[in-house]
Amino acid sequence: MTAKILNGKPIAEAIKTEIKAEVSDLREIHSFAPCLAVVRVGEDPASAVYVGNKLRTTEELGLTSIHHHLPTETKSEELFALVRSLNENDDVDGILVQLPLPEHIDESAILELIDPRKDVDGFHPINVGRLSQGRESLVPCTPAGVIEILKRSGIEIAGSNAVIVGRSNIVGKPMAMLLLQENATVTICHSRTRDLALVTSQADILIAAIGRPGYIRGEHIKEGAAVIDVGINKVSDPSQIAELYDGDELESRLAVIENRDFTLVGDVSMKDAIAKAGAFTPVPGGVGLLTIAMLMRNTVDAAKRRRGID
Ligand code: NDP
Repeated sequence: MTAKILNGKPIAEAIKTEIKAEVSDLREIHSFAPCLAVVRVGEDPASAVYVGNKLRTTEELGLTSIHHHLPTETKSEELFALVRSLNENDDVDGILVQLPLPEHIDESAILELIDPRKDVDGFHPINVGRLSQGRESLVPCTPAGVIEILKRSGIEIAGSNAVIVGRSNIVGKPMAMLLLQENATVTICHSRTRDLALVTSQADILIAAIGRPGYIRGEHIKEGAAVIDVGINKVSDPSQIAELYDGDELESRLAVIENRDFTLVGDVSMKDAIAKAGAFTPVPGGVGLLTIAMLMRNTVDAAKRRRGID
């Protein structure tokens, strides 16, 4: 079997087009545009890229944004004060504090301080609790993006056997809750799971969110399964790449390493997934592209709910 490649780009573009139209209506009918406040602390280069992409997308879709970039040595109290002021600012609909924060700042304390109604990352315990109760909530963007990929690719979730590898608060656990809400039978695996391949090879939908390049191999995949690869790992060793790719893809990956020292690799061996799965999301070009689109979705939803608009 040759897996169908589920490209994230057209799905992300479709969602962004819908959001753009919705924002245009909000501007026209309700005379406001949803506003996202993004806070970045320190000089983490990856965070700078992520924040830049998020701000650019707000502009592209007609939302407004506020950007606060604070120095690494910012005291916790200063960040607390900023979050409080954004909570109180009636023009701000969504607040995102880019992670990771510098080590001296307590990440959970900051995330809990964000007004749950403006918590567009969906990490506040109130939103986590609401999600687990199946109530309306702001949902973490990456797992929400996975659901969009599955639904918009016509993959049947209800009644399916869904297995998630990874139990983080950002991906694995909310992913499980969302799949449960969609009526899948859900299993969560982690580093202490005894026989991983035995469990994952039963999955109609297999979601890998581990953070280990190409860890999921053919033996883990059920013939014809939908395999969703959330992992993003940098690999620079050509021999490791040669194990995970073949043909033209291998050639192009080796060329990428040659040019910029590394290539981005998922948690699933692409070679094995293509040979055995029914559908597969590539890395890059799959789930990752949905995350920002879902952040925009959350910002618009947060704006509408807080302002009492249907
Ligand atoms: P974490 O490191 O927080 O969690 C990894 C999970 O994988 C843990 O639950 C861990 O188990 C489990 N795990 C590790 N090794 C094994 C193993 N050998 N067998 C089974 N389970 C294992 O990672 P995240 O959830 O934050 O991210 C996972 C991946 O997804 C990363 O590659 C990350 O870069 C990517 N990611 C991509 C995003 C996007 O597309 N936009 C967004 C967020 C993440 P245990 O709990 O027992 O330690």
